[in-house]
Amino acid sequence: MADHTLPFALPDIGEEEIQAVSDALRSGWLSSGPRVEEFERRFAALCGDGVQAIALNSATAGLHLALEALGIGPGDEVLVPTWTFTATAEIVVHLGARPVFVDSDPVTLNIDLADAERKVTRNTRAVLPVHFAGRAVPPSRLHEFAVRHHLQVVEDAAHAFPSASEGVPVGAGHSTATVFSFYATKTITTGEGGMLVTRDAGLANRVRMTRLHGIDRNAFDRYRSDRPAWRYNIAAAGYKYNLTDTAAAIGLVQLDRAEKMHLRREQIAGRYRTAFADLPLDLPQEAPPTDVHSWHLFVVRLWDGAEVGRNEFIAEMSRRGVCCSVHFIPLHMHSYWREEYGLRDEMFPVASSEFDRVVSIPLYSGMTDEDVDRVIETTHDVLR
Ligand SMILES: *Cc1c(COP(=O)(O)O)cnc(C)c1O
Repeated sequence: MADHTLPFALPDIGEEEIQAVSDALRSGWLSSGPRVEEFERRFAALCGDGVQAIALNSATAGLHLALEALGIGPGDEVLVPTWTFTATAEIVVHLGARPVFVDSDPVTLNIDLADAERKVTRNTRAVLPVHFAGRAVPPSRLHEFAVRHHLQVVEDAAHAFPSASEGVPVGAGHSTATVFSFYATKTITTGEGGMLVTRDAGLANRVRMTRLHGIDRNAFDRYRSDRPAWRYNIAAAGYKYNLTDTAAAIGLVQLDRAEKMHLRREQIAGRYRTAFADLPLDLPQEAPPTDVHSWHLFVVRLWDGAEVGRNEFIAEMSRRGVCCSVHFIPLHMHSYWREEYGLRDEMFPVASSEFDRVVSIPLYSGMTDEDVDRVIETTHDVLR
């Protein structure tokens, strides 16, 4: 019907990124090297004084290594929102610990800390909040909750670059660790990639070691002066989670362009907000002025009484050439999590009912004004 289909998301890659990758390839250094180091340095500087940044080949890897460094394992419980991507919970299982699923705040769809409170036991070690769509969880509330229950906070900031709450940028606060994703659809991308940031030097050292097979560079450096170059030491059963220099080359350009790309996302979100005001939809709540919303996603919720249901809405948009998506199918609705952990819809009343009406509308920095017009017109057409 439509002459071309508008994708739900598209990486914003230009000639500069292509040139940077060419340069990296010509340099002869393809694995982790000078570009990864520069990417880490620049990312850490964005987060603020005293923050260390460690590049990884995914956010999933960063979440995994953060919990590993905290010694989380069998017998431990970790609070995870049901409203997230499966990566947030699977890494808990890989460490032999138990994910404990938490319902959502009805306004932001972020973790409901009141429900989390009810699920704390003496085995709870950590909480993994997700800043859903780019709307950050207030750090004061997180901190207060974590201190009261002696919990570590590892933030899943896959959606949250750049986001802030209470004037504090995500990654600049005092959580144990914060992990960003540079997957192809995220606000900045390296194709696949992630970044762990932390103020904890011990945790940073552990992750630098475990991301590359447990090679202990500190032990190595200590002896470097009188040891031959082939000599290295393995100090842990590590992983293969390092980022490549070719990916970091893309990341460095994306960092240069991040502010512009974010402004474009804000602009598009603003246009949607105005254009959708008179439709039978709930729009994302306006964040307080001390917040920054990354606008990774623009999630609308169809009114319960609307003539068009959620599934039909997505099908009709698609028939007219506009791809939409759903974030998220809550984890308790997937067979593995449901069966393995005995989860039922009634345990998560907010997530279970909101799932039926959420739709993610296309939003990416490379959208033209005509693309935005088309999404707006098509949405009006389907809902009218
Ligand atoms: C994308 C995403 C991840 C995983 O990021 P990767 O870099 O692909 O590992 C984790 N959590 C959430 C909420 C995500 O959206």
